[in-house]
Amino acid sequence: MEVILLNYTKNPEDTAAAAARLCYSPSDIDDIIKKYDTASNTALIKMILASGHHSVIEHVSFTFGIQGISRVTTHQLVRHRVASYSQQSQRYVLFKDKLDCIVPDTIRDDEAALNKYMESFEYAYKVYKELVDMGIPQEDARYVLPNGAETKIIVTMNARELLHFFKLRCCRRAQKEIRDMAKEMLILAKQKSPTIFNDAGPECIRRACPEGKMNCGKAKEVKEEYKYL
Ligand SMILES: Cc1cc2nc3c(=O)[nH]c(=O)nc-3n(C[C@H](O)[C@H](O)[C@H](O)COP(=O)(O)OP(=O)(O)OC[C@H]3O[C@@H](n4cnc5c(N)ncnc54)[C@H](O)[C@@H]3O)c2cc1C
Repeated sequence: MEVILLNYTKNPEDTAAAAARLCYSPSDIDDIIKKYDTASNTALIKMILASGHHSVIEHVSFTFGIQGISRVTTHQLVRHRVASYSQQSQRYVLFKDKLDCIVPDTIRDDEAALNKYMESFEYAYKVYKELVDMGIPQEDARYVLPNGAETKIIVTMNARELLHFFKLRCCRRAQKEIRDMAKEMLILAKQKSPTIFNDAGPECIRRACPEGKMNCGKAKEVKEEYKYL
């Protein structure tokens, strides 16, 4: 899996702080921006995040390019509605020579399971190609392709949605592949905006797990994992 930060809002925390100050200031926007330095903007952002007035961080957005992931994971990703997506199409792209498959770790670690998995993937791909050769449009031939087929997607989310996304998808209750992807996205976003994403991640690193009886029982381990992210 490869997660690339393609673009992000320039000066993310100054932008969000300016949006917050504007609400309460009689000054022109230029003056608001010039008047405050990064230290005071950082302090303001911390206050806003603590108070829950998160609409101002919607002015900060991040665009990620993600490849080497399965359709299982992109299907889970696109359930997050406050975002924009562009995904490689199985209607328009013909997988003439190859189609990669994503192998879950549990299958990769078990030789017999891996053989079975690869055999079934290769068979599905063979049938796909045979259908295309018979003149079936690729948009219909693709119905035989498995969920494990590799795909690529570009996603843009604002910082408010990213915090929500990280809360749900960095959690151990989320599936491993999307969890790994979300963690990579968090690392990249945090490098550009350390205050906004300071304690981003699964809920259990901030407070008690909301999953109740369904909790993973690994809160301590998860806290360690996210401590120095
Ligand atoms: C561990 C896990 C297991 C899951 N299992 C399943 C499953 O078995 N079956 C299944 O179908 N899904 C499942 N999901 C997906 C889940 O139900 C959500 O669809 C997905 O996580 C998107 O999150 P969301 O709806 O909170 O927020 P987003 O779409 O990211 O939206 C962000 C927030 O905006 C608000 N919002 C967005 N749209 C609306 C709206 N139309 N009306 C009101 N408020 C809105 C909500 O406050 C929402 O939390 C699972 C998710 C996780 C993390």
